[in-house]
Amino acid sequence: MRLYNTATRTVEEFHPHEEGKAAVYTCGPTVYHFAHIGNLRSYICEDVLVKTLIYAGYELKRVMNITDVGHLSSDADTGEDKMLKGAKREHKTVLQIAEQYTKAFFADFNKLNMRMPDVIEPATHCIPEFIHMIEVLLEKGYAYQAGENVYFDTSKLQNYYALSNQNEEELKEGVRDDVGVDENKRNKTDFVLWFTKSKFEDQELKWESPWGYGYPGWHIECSCIGIKHLGEYMDIHCGGVDNIFPHHTNEIAQSEAFLGHPWCRYWFHVHHLVEKGGKMSKSKGDFLTVSLLEEKGYDPLAYRYFCLQSHYRKPLEFSYEVLDQMAAAYEKLRRRTSELSAEGEVDKAVFEKYRSRFSEALQDDLNTSMAFTVFYDMLKEDTNDATKRALTESMDSVFSLKLLEPYAAAEVDEELAAFAEAKIAERAEAKKAKDFAKADAIREELLAKGIVIKDTREGTKWERA
Ligand code: AMP
Ligand code: ZN
Repeated sequence: MRLYNTATRTVEEFHPHEEGKAAVYTCGPTVYHFAHIGNLRSYICEDVLVKTLIYAGYELKRVMNITDVGHLSSDADTGEDKMLKGAKREHKTVLQIAEQYTKAFFADFNKLNMRMPDVIEPATHCIPEFIHMIEVLLEKGYAYQAGENVYFDTSKLQNYYALSNQNEEELKEGVRDDVGVDENKRNKTDFVLWFTKSKFEDQELKWESPWGYGYPGWHIECSCIGIKHLGEYMDIHCGGVDNIFPHHTNEIAQSEAFLGHPWCRYWFHVHHLVEKGGKMSKSKGDFLTVSLLEEKGYDPLAYRYFCLQSHYRKPLEFSYEVLDQMAAAYEKLRRRTSELSAEGEVDKAVFEKYRSRFSEALQDDLNTSMAFTVFYDMLKEDTNDATKRALTESMDSVFSLKLLEPYAAAEVDEELAAFAEAKIAERAEAKKAKDFAKADAIREELLAKGIVIKDTREGTKWERA
């Protein structure tokens, strides 16, 4: 298995810490609002990663946190807590908001046919672990108290920028405002581990700690939850590219300072789904959700199909025109595969040939579009349905497009066919009775339903307009 690793900026052979096992961590959602379909692109690509590893035979454990405290409206430590913003917007408590949007997130997860993580841990469940990690960081001299908050001292690290490939000059720009806001920081890249005092005094959820009544900074949760459930060595850490800096950079800083050794070897980052106007963002108010796509008549799996056609390391531009094309291609494919018969013997040689080509495509840094080429080639292969069905089943364990399930649109078709046949019979009667006006009216009626009829020597035939 070869994967692009943000830490080394190269495609590398995957060697897990323990042979045959894969310890995978995913930054979960900040549950202050619905996930937008951009967030879900990241999770779909991660789902493909996870299923590819399982397909390749790895014993996999995946952990995901739920951010229900500590993520401020800027990824640096400024602004209001996102959860509190959500609660105010909807006149609810923070915990009600967290529960509501965690449920909504996993409802979308399900609709997109993703494998549930093995462990799902909300940040608010791990406050004692956060406090412990901060205590150790203070003891080891990697953290300091200032202005009633606790900060991580990034100057204590030899290579703080290991992941993000940024240099200090570039960073100066991005964080200059931040330095102005928080004068307690010794270095501009230092970040908060524990707040007792922020510019916003009305934080709803607070806990007792050795440093006073307060709440954790955002980054600490992923270090703690990762180590709690996956141990001291993590194989792959996932997220969207916006997480590289500062979130993942700070996670590495904390975890390695705490553990005293390297922590996670492979960093997997998904590029963004973008709109013509630029970045897709939840704070814009009106944003694209799975429910909105459903309201517009799209099957959520058509969106999954859309995401799988492009590579995770390229930005993907969303438009309804392209989604329409993808939805049509998906429908056509599903009609085809759901009709594959199971009768007959599977041709083992053909099965192996395609299974290995498919596996190779995915193991080449998740080349999903190549995997689809293999899949479509397979459907064209001169072999029986049973073999194609078995291969579809196998490949769909990664694609997860329900390719063998009876297709709902097919039922609609049956209704449509029955309607067309009945009307054609009625029209034949009308013609026999020389009631041509009625016959024409029936033709029009069918056309209004998208059915075109043709009189042929073999009788009247119909097709979709
Ligand atoms: P959040 O709920 O904001 O913490 O984000 C959840 C996940 O979505 C993170 O892994 C982000 O990196 C990712 N993400 C945010 N915006 C986009 C986008 N436009 N396209 C793809 N992934 C995104
Ligand atoms: Zn995280």
